Amino acid sequence: MISNQPPPEKMMFQLTLRRRGISDQAVLRTMEEVPRELFVEASDRDGAYRDSALPIACGQTISQPFVVAYMTEQLQLQKSHRVLEIGTGSGYQAAVLSKLAREVLTVERYRKLADTARARLEKLGCHNVEVMLGDGLDLPANIGPFDRIIVTAAVEQIPQNLIDRLELGGILIAPVGPHQGVQTLTRLIRGDRGIERKELVEVRFVPALPGVAREL
Ligand code: SAH
Repeated sequence: MISNQPPPEKMMFQLTLRRRGISDQAVLRTMEEVPRELFVEASDRDGAYRDSALPIACGQTISQPFVVAYMTEQLQLQKSHRVLEIGTGSGYQAAVLSKLAREVLTVERYRKLADTARARLEKLGCHNVEVMLGDGLDLPANIGPFDRIIVTAAVEQIPQNLIDRLELGGILIAPVGPHQGVQTLTRLIRGDRGIERKELVEVRFVPALPGVAREL
């Protein structure tokens, strides 16, 4: 029998995201479209649609799908938006963002991860993503402003120089807390009367570290 239905592991993937509370249809569709198996290590392909973080090169991790979907939903993306991501990692979150926004600039401190992610994203046709090697916590002043900023590595505090790059009405989301242990996903909105801050859910991210990594 010929069927148009997605394979069972992708159906489970969607079900898990919905069950955990993701309801934005555009986000759910995008999570279905982006092939996560191409962003994990070859030996982890079979488990690519389980709801767990997985190791990638340079001792880093690709985030858990629920957390990617949740952060994306919280950003309330529109097709006109310019987005900044700190922490390219595998490039998976950037691919998800690229389908829902106009332009994505994603910054990574490991050259190897930046190069691999860039090649992957090009191959997948995500032409509106630019991958930059650099320290996302210390960007040159001429970069920005952005409608949305997403930090995908743990910060003890949200750097003021990132907040300053938010457009009016802009949203920033970041895991805030100690480098080892649990962080609180925190959302800032720049409104007419200043910054509105909301703490969302607990998460575990690898730490944001200063400078471009010396290793390749
Ligand atoms: N968003 C990624 C997962 C992020 S893992 C994905 O979808 O796969 C966190 C990443 O942040 C790691 O690759 C780490 O090297 C990077 N990182 C940590 N500190 C950074 C900094 N100061 N600037 C840029 N990238 C940083």
